[in-house]
Amino acid sequence: MKISVAIDGPAGAGKSTIAKLVAKKFDLMYINTGAMYRAVALKSKENGLKADNVTEICKLIETMKMRFEKDDLVLNDENIQSKITMPEISSIVSAYASIPEVRKMLVKLQREMSKEFNVIMDGRDIGTVVLKDSSFKFFLTATPEERATRRYKELRERNIECSYDTILKDIIERDYKDSHREVDPLRKADDAIEVDTTGLNIEEVTDKIIGLINLKINN
Ligand code: C5P
Repeated sequence: MKISVAIDGPAGAGKSTIAKLVAKKFDLMYINTGAMYRAVALKSKENGLKADNVTEICKLIETMKMRFEKDDLVLNDENIQSKITMPEISSIVSAYASIPEVRKMLVKLQREMSKEFNVIMDGRDIGTVVLKDSSFKFFLTATPEERATRRYKELRERNIECSYDTILKDIIERDYKDSHREVDPLRKADDAIEVDTTGLNIEEVTDKIIGLINLKINN
């Protein structure tokens, strides 16, 4: 049976951690679409392209061969996962992700991946756009403070200098930009199941989602 699972939600809601575990359980390929937008932001930054330089950014994307290897994004044969998760990329990525032409190119790539493999994708527009026809859609949320605490811990574990207040500010700003942009804003699909992860641990959320998927598969 071909299944594709969509997981959307704001930054730090636990989407990627949960998606990786659900992927293992159902033998799905995990596609982190946020990583793809982050790769565009990273490469644009390295090439001195600001978000208003749409033509050059699109040309740059055409040279970017993206694939996932053990959940990490590999760009033109370089594993760039740790570079794209740095705070300086988090703070600029939404500006690039709000460019309609960029979204069009990345959505096309994501749809191609979903045609070839059984996938679980996380992002902002998966249930509403990329995997609109999926029967397995989830929308994860948590309070901004809880999400900032999770991000802070994650960065500290990697010995990356950061402040809780800056992360919280970035998360609030990103939520606003992602949910107010004109093209494909972050919103819960009407047929997505909302899961508030505040106060729940990873295992509890994963079990809940696995249970809901099994319920649908068996019905
Ligand atoms: O998921 P993550 O926080 O890594 O995503 C980084 C950014 O990429 C988001 O804040 C958003 O601006 C953008 N994004 C998007 N659509 C997606 C996934 C991510 O616009 N499907």
